[in-house]
Amino acid sequence: MAWGAKSRHERGYDSAWVKVRNEVMRRDCGLCQTCKRAGRTTLAHAVDHIVSKAKAEALHWPRAKTDHPSNLEAICNPCHLVKTEAEQGKRKRPRKVIGDDGWPL
Ligand SMILES: [Zn+2]
Repeated sequence: MAWGAKSRHERGYDSAWVKVRNEVMRRDCGLCQTCKRAGRTTLAHAVDHIVSKAKAEALHWPRAKTDHPSNLEAICNPCHLVKTEAEQGKRKRPRKVIGDDGWPL
């Protein structure tokens, strides 16, 4: 059973997640909720955290709240990509560590 450093369970994707994921997919009729809000009907490919796991962690949310159906919605791949990029962009803070004179700031 040594096919990976971390099991699915350790990464936080266990049977409880599969269950809640299915529940959200059913609730959202398998349609991307981001597209729905924009008036489009698109089949969802995944279930996404509305408040991202990283953000929830920063807010000290318990796992039960982070993975609760109220914090999850169905999403299509293009919307998921846009959202993930926006989240990562927000986290990436470009900072100049070496000044123009070559010394650390
Ligand atoms: Zn979408």
